Amino acid sequence: MRGMSEQPILVAGGGIGGLATALGLARKGFNVCVLERASAFGEIGAGIQLGPNAFHAFDALGVGDAARRMAVYIEQLRLMDAVNGEEICHIPLDERFRKRFGNPYAVVHRGDLHGVLLQGCRDSSRIELRVRSEVLSYEQDGSRIRVQLATGDTVDGAGLVGADGLWSKVRQQVLGDGPPRVSGHTTYRSVIPTERMPEELRWNAATLWAGPKCHVVHYPLSDWRVFNLVATFHSDAPDPVAGMPVSLDTVLDGFRHTHEYVQNIIRHGSDWKMWVLCDRDPVDRWTEGRVVLLGDAAHPMLQYFAQGACMALEDAVCLAECAEASDGDVERAFVDYNRQRVLRTTRLQLQSREIGQHIYHPAGAHAALRDALLRQKTDEDWFDALQWLYGGPKQSRPFGN
Ligand SMILES: Cc1cc2nc3c(=O)[nH]c(=O)nc-3n(C[C@H](O)[C@H](O)[C@H](O)COP(=O)(O)OP(=O)(O)OC[C@H]3O[C@@H](n4cnc5c(N)ncnc54)[C@H](O)[C@@H]3O)c2cc1C
Repeated sequence: MRGMSEQPILVAGGGIGGLATALGLARKGFNVCVLERASAFGEIGAGIQLGPNAFHAFDALGVGDAARRMAVYIEQLRLMDAVNGEEICHIPLDERFRKRFGNPYAVVHRGDLHGVLLQGCRDSSRIELRVRSEVLSYEQDGSRIRVQLATGDTVDGAGLVGADGLWSKVRQQVLGDGPPRVSGHTTYRSVIPTERMPEELRWNAATLWAGPKCHVVHYPLSDWRVFNLVATFHSDAPDPVAGMPVSLDTVLDGFRHTHEYVQNIIRHGSDWKMWVLCDRDPVDRWTEGRVVLLGDAAHPMLQYFAQGACMALEDAVCLAECAEASDGDVERAFVDYNRQRVLRTTRLQLQSREIGQHIYHPAGAHAALRDALLRQKTDEDWFDALQWLYGGPKQSRPFGN
């Protein structure tokens, strides 16, 4: 591939996955052209949690210091009972955690994270960033790829990375497997100034209130200036929705059975917006010749492990390493990357559904069993259980014990 580096690698989509891919490839000496559908590069104004594995990836992409500067370092992952208001358990994110996994756990504003990646791309002479460039389709002839844009233009490259998210057009051509699966879970998001968050709940934690068929997550962001609120409810909604404004009453309707604390948090939210969550069953093939999928386009998952973006970052690092190792062979690089990434992301797609069912949303005896099992865990038990994930993909036991 290096011999062909006159021809850029095309990346469809300039989200977290696409920009990280561009950075990774450029650092290995490849020219890259990012084709973004929107009229400007950006992210929605909500928060995101980043496990230590995301910071391993930031370091490999050369933006570790910038990423660390914008993060809020929470002290716990805290699980609360949304019905009786009591703590079920927590995972400490202290020095022992950081030492064990080699990096911290943090929460960041999506815009800040995207901004760090975007700046890294803008600083690279190898990366061309193009907006208003929706990718519709591609054709390939064994030596190059030609992408058709919605504008009518075409763009040529040595390969195409489909990082165009949940509704990926590139995926439709590679796999043709139809629309994503609508989970029937509805998520509502709001970001509020810290002074509006009830004072007794301004914890330095990513807190999750787990209740029957619903849960609420909150954590501080942006140097504690705001709190990120996310409320999720099994609404059995049949159709996908993204970012639709909804009233406070609509949000509260899913949480009338929860503790006053939880309802109070929701009442303090404003400008609530709604998403109906989608994912897909895992597939083992993400490539077609000189085309490959990455991030949500390849392995969309429910957000319950807070790992979708972390996986896109890891994908980007792996793809860049495979490109460097492939000695001029784009197709081989893409197949190697696919092989190295598919089991880890498959596990997260499947286990994200599982933890939704068994940890976040159970009721009655099912919830009591959850409490009993989680309460008996020591800090070391938690760290051992999370080693496969937070330790990153390059371990002697990448899938744990
Ligand atoms: C409620 C919620 C909470 C979450 N919380 C977390 C969390 O705490 N931690 C975590 O790691 N993950 C989290 N995630 C998952 C995370 O947001 C996604 O996995 C991640 O953003 C995927 O990045 P991506 O770049 O693959 O796709 P996207 O972010 O969807 O980016 C795709 C980009 O491609 C562009 N595009 C789309 N179609 C085209 C086209 N045809 N041509 C050109 N451009 C196109 C889009 O405009 C966009 O810029 C959460 C998700 C949700 C829904």
